[in-house]
Amino acid sequence: MKNTLEEFKDYLHRMRQYDHVLTLLHWDLSTLAPEKGVEAHMNAINYFSTEQFRLSTAEEYGKMLRELSAPELFDSLDEAMQLTVKRGRRDYERFKRIPEEFYSSYTEVKARSERAWEKAKRASDFSVFAPHLEKVISMTKDFVRYMEPEADPYEVLLDMYEEGMDSKVIDRVFGELKEGLLPLLKKIGESPRPDLSALEGKYDIAAQKKVQSMLLEYIGFDKDAGAMAESEHPFTTELCIGDVRVTNHYKEEDPISAIFSAIHEGGHAIFGQGIDSVYQDTAVERVDMMGLHESQSRFYENILGRRRSFWVPIYRKLGELLPKVQEIPLDTFVRAINAVQPSMIRTEADEVTYCLHIILRYEMEKEIFRGDVSVDQLPGLWNDKMEELLGIRPRNDGEGILQDMHWSDGSFGYFPSYLLGSMYDGMFLEALEKEKGSVDAILEAGRIGGDHSLAA
Ligand code: ZN
Repeated sequence: MKNTLEEFKDYLHRMRQYDHVLTLLHWDLSTLAPEKGVEAHMNAINYFSTEQFRLSTAEEYGKMLRELSAPELFDSLDEAMQLTVKRGRRDYERFKRIPEEFYSSYTEVKARSERAWEKAKRASDFSVFAPHLEKVISMTKDFVRYMEPEADPYEVLLDMYEEGMDSKVIDRVFGELKEGLLPLLKKIGESPRPDLSALEGKYDIAAQKKVQSMLLEYIGFDKDAGAMAESEHPFTTELCIGDVRVTNHYKEEDPISAIFSAIHEGGHAIFGQGIDSVYQDTAVERVDMMGLHESQSRFYENILGRRRSFWVPIYRKLGELLPKVQEIPLDTFVRAINAVQPSMIRTEADEVTYCLHIILRYEMEKEIFRGDVSVDQLPGLWNDKMEELLGIRPRNDGEGILQDMHWSDGSFGYFPSYLLGSMYDGMFLEALEKEKGSVDAILEAGRIGGDHSLAA
């Protein structure tokens, strides 16, 4: 007969299969699914997430969690299993409080809202998205209230993405950042503008895809354990340790956007691919600190990708793929990818203004969850904050409030992770150089992937 731990592991493995199918379905909906198949895919998502919900709230699961939490058993578990039981118990208690009908309709509302957001973004028309957003906001509030009836909903959301983090700490660190960055940005604005004209022109999309592929390989993405696709917004999907996928979004007139998205998502993917397979089906496999995850992607993107030394081993190759680059000296290119200037789109922002894009979203989320701002007022509030923080005003909602996918699927509380991750990065760089020596020397030698050297 199996003991409780063995039964628990079997149960986790069963739950895991639902997660697997759901992740694939979501990936497919955001990348390849044709319009006429959407309805059927959404039905499938709804079916599998309801089944998954039943498994995660089942009495037998709760019983196993209680048994494994008893000190004599708990102390005998390894660390990964202890964490799995602890998280499992927390989530079990939370999910038990959610009515199944609510959970099921929340899932459906989010899936529909994501599709509406894609359409709204393409048409730059907030009115297409507004009714969906309104529902997602109100249901996200209910969802959190069911899980943690006593807590402040926004605090619960923050904690979901960055365990242990709260708005008190974020208010303080973001406040300090804002105070330092606004005068810095003003000073930069008063100095001579960098010349970005060298990069202007049209870049073949097929060639940009080859650049992405080259970059992913360069930084160490394992193509046998991943895949690439196109989507409205770049993202990474961790299906399992042996299959971590990235997407990208291409613009004909701007190759830099896709280049840095490729490096960013590649950073997420390498982190996912690097997780030891002994942690499969445990809580360790999924990192619950998105700030830490973002620190990996943003480390590749900014700390490595914006250095001259990063490009030295591959600049010739970049020129082969994008012939226009052959006319641009490396130093000009490096200056262009490091230009600081206020712009509309977060994912394309430089390191200075990026922080302000996040602060804007954080301030808005606090308004949404604690203030009494209506959905119709949100685009205007966004634009006002853009003016206040960055001195520019979006010409339309496509380059304003519609640019990010996060709110469409209820991922409120996620945005701060990007900035926390960027702040961790500075500390990682310092620690890395202490241990491994100059990052520039490592990069110039083509050793970004560790000790295997690059044949560029
Ligand atoms: Zn990211």
